[in-house]
Amino acid sequence: MKTDSVAMTSLAGERKQGTVCIFGTGDFGRSLGLRLLQAGYEVVFGSRDPKNSALVPKGSKVMTHTEAAQMAQVIFIAVQRDHYDFLTSLTPALEGKVLVDISNNLKRGQFPQSNAEYLSSLVPGASVVKGFNTVSAWALQSGALDASRQVLVCGDDPKAKQAVVDIAHSLGLTVQDRGSLRAAGELEDIPLQLFPNWRLPLWIATGLTAFFFFYLLIRDVIYSYVVDGKDMSFRIMISLANKVFPIVSLIMLALCYLPSILAAILQLYNGTKYKRFPDWLDRWMLCRKQLGLVALALAFLHVLYTLVIPIRYYVRYKAAAGTISQIKDNVTRPFDNTMAWRGDSYYSLGILGFGLYVLLGITSLPSVSNALNWREFRFVQSKLGHVTLLLCTAHALLYGWDKFLKPYKFWMPPGYMLSLVVPCVVLVSKLILIMPCVDRTVTRIRQGWERPTKGTALSNGTTQQPLMA
Ligand code: NAP
Repeated sequence: MKTDSVAMTSLAGERKQGTVCIFGTGDFGRSLGLRLLQAGYEVVFGSRDPKNSALVPKGSKVMTHTEAAQMAQVIFIAVQRDHYDFLTSLTPALEGKVLVDISNNLKRGQFPQSNAEYLSSLVPGASVVKGFNTVSAWALQSGALDASRQVLVCGDDPKAKQAVVDIAHSLGLTVQDRGSLRAAGELEDIPLQLFPNWRLPLWIATGLTAFFFFYLLIRDVIYSYVVDGKDMSFRIMISLANKVFPIVSLIMLALCYLPSILAAILQLYNGTKYKRFPDWLDRWMLCRKQLGLVALALAFLHVLYTLVIPIRYYVRYKAAAGTISQIKDNVTRPFDNTMAWRGDSYYSLGILGFGLYVLLGITSLPSVSNALNWREFRFVQSKLGHVTLLLCTAHALLYGWDKFLKPYKFWMPPGYMLSLVVPCVVLVSKLILIMPCVDRTVTRIRQGWERPTKGTALSNGTTQQPLMA
């Protein structure tokens, strides 16, 4: 029994998957070659200078392009597009072969034609498949493929595509078929993307932060200097920061939920879900997760800044001065029950809101969201999300308390008052949308019902009535 298992293991170790050819002994070619050898393939490199290719992985062979092409059916072109010209002279040797174009460009729209389509035009007798360009040489070599484990392929010949898919699978990669070779340009643009969904949220966060910083600087620091002649500039470091971050965080949290409200309003207005949303709304919807994560990061900063309040020199000085003045005047300030309620409720709502905020952030992580079904995910992100927004808005309202009625400095309302506008609009709109009569219509529209336009004639000659229950 033991002998059998040893024999089987050694057979598996010796089993060869077939031969794969790689043109080019550069970084990518060598890394791919190593992985292919580890997966049990025979690897032959086609090189301009076979004799001087000492760096290729052990166990592979290096020969001229023509010789290497004859050894395998699948050939990876691990050469920069600029050098593809040499392939035209190899056309007879490449006839009927599967050429895998792994190339990337330096910038979008660098060439009028995608690299893969260009390769196909150079070697019309071969079947070109685009793939592996989203996997880096480093990731292939180090085995750290988590971030780029997915190989995207496209090509016009299904058999050729399948051959490449089989190789990717045997290297432990997952594959996504992106259709015909016309999609190659799209695949070549992917490695050039730089956090596309983060740009809008980061612009919004930066814009709002800058606006509220200068707004509060004028209100809290410059006003005191101009009107009272007091230098309160020390407030910039903690007080101002601890106002700006929660304000921007709350607005951004509300901005996560505003697009779905606008979408529902648009669907109600159009009476159908089959009309496209404007592009800006589509883009906004796509970056809601990133908006929420930036908002969460700002909420974290608010928590950290709040934790240091008791050790601030200014706070300790004010507390000590208050106590000393009571001793001097021989008075004890009476305990204010309302203030105690206000303070405790304010902190409690803030803590609960932040707890749910963190939960929303955690469930947006792919490893967690993949473990939830669609209903569970919607429950957390939509229902608990609105509850989070409600708690955080109530936290800000309690912070304001009676300050809402105080006269404005320089006719500028306090920052937190401005921060409440978008959240209140979202919460009130949501309240209206979940009212049964409105919710029923939105639900029906989302299930495919369309409001008949006035006087829509039915085939039986009658006029279709609106399907309001
Ligand atoms: P590289 O290190 O510059 O290697 C390219 C190889 O092409 C050279 O080693 C050379 O091999 C061959 N070559 C150079 N000039 C040539 C010419 N005039 N004619 C014929 N062959 C020539 O490049 P690489 O990083 O391996 O990238 C190769 C391709 O993979 C590129 O298209 C790149 O966009 C793509 N890619 C790379 C990565 C990555 O992480 N590096 C990731 C995805 C995709 P010989 O000396 O043996 O002929």
